[in-house]
Amino acid sequence: MSENVPFTSSQEKIEEEVSLSELNLINPEHNTSLFSSWWTPGETEGQRRLQEFIGRIGNYKNDRKNPADHGTSRLSPHYHFGEVTPFQVWDKVLDESENFKDEGVDHYIFRLATKEYYSYIMFYNPNMADKNIIRKFDKLPWKEDPEYLKLKAWKEGKTGIPIIDAGMRELLGVGYMHNSTRLITSNFLIKGIMCDWRKGQEHFWEHLLDADLPSNSGGWQWSAGTHHDCPRKGVQISNPYLQSIKFDPKGDYIRKWVPELALMPTAHIHDPSEAPKNVLEKAGVEIGVTYPYKIVNHDKVSREARKKWEKIY
Ligand SMILES: Cc1cc2nc3c(=O)[nH]c(=O)nc-3n(C[C@H](O)[C@H](O)[C@H](O)COP(=O)(O)OP(=O)(O)OC[C@H]3O[C@@H](n4cnc5c(N)ncnc54)[C@H](O)[C@@H]3O)c2cc1C
Repeated sequence: MSENVPFTSSQEKIEEEVSLSELNLINPEHNTSLFSSWWTPGETEGQRRLQEFIGRIGNYKNDRKNPADHGTSRLSPHYHFGEVTPFQVWDKVLDESENFKDEGVDHYIFRLATKEYYSYIMFYNPNMADKNIIRKFDKLPWKEDPEYLKLKAWKEGKTGIPIIDAGMRELLGVGYMHNSTRLITSNFLIKGIMCDWRKGQEHFWEHLLDADLPSNSGGWQWSAGTHHDCPRKGVQISNPYLQSIKFDPKGDYIRKWVPELALMPTAHIHDPSEAPKNVLEKAGVEIGVTYPYKIVNHDKVSREARKKWEKIY
């Protein structure tokens, strides 16, 4: 391009006068110091991560549920940026699968197919990010403005429910959240505080490195019970305390992302507000001061939510 073309000169001006930080490309809610220890963008790293994962794919079925274990591939951001493709994984996994227990391989391929499945669903439901796939659920009575503070607490990881707070802070910390906590946090937002799933979807979209329109809305509609596969299973309300014990039995994930609870003994870390006073004192935890009060009574809100969904079923 010639030197006199105005575009070139204004571009040079931009390069001279605007620093990277002035462009405000970094979301201030992200703790960017953690990003570089978790992620290295690019095809080379994507392929390296794939190779590393193939070495442990045999254990995938067992290891994939505990968010503290890093048992999943964490390839989703690399899929998102096109640095690894599902076909490459398919070929590699099948080429090398003789060395592994079939269960892990099957399970991984099934998971990968879920991503494609949601794209297929979106092809036939192009409004899936905005509209309930099953339209009778349009009648769900979402709560609006008075619940704003609860939505804010959810987004910031300050609900007073440790497994929820850990997941939401992982999202802000590294632009990723483990699948188990994506399920728990989304179910809680929808059925625990009756917040329209689209608000949660928007927050995930804003912060996930792997943000993918079909998988994100598919995941949210799964938790809301508003897409094809859900009604047959009845209303699904997950209990975050029981899920926490199941998926993070030692509380390691909570300790990592909610450091103010790091000294809580495992028996009480999943629900510190029910811990005896002396246990809290010893762990340096004061509910309402160092760690928030719970924003809802889970038993009460889940009973109410169940009635609302059952009325529509
Ligand atoms: C509410 C909610 C929102 C979600 N939003 C997204 C999103 O925006 N983008 C996204 O890629 N995934 C999304 N998922 C699916 C899933 O949580 C992530 O794909 C997974 O956590 C990525 O981590 P991984 O690569 O270590 O997964 P692995 O367990 O290693 O799985 C391998 C790959 O399979 C695919 N996969 C696995 N589970 C699912 C699933 N349930 N749905 C679709 N694909 C799946 C992903 O491409 C993933 O990389 C969402 C799930 C829920 C419940």
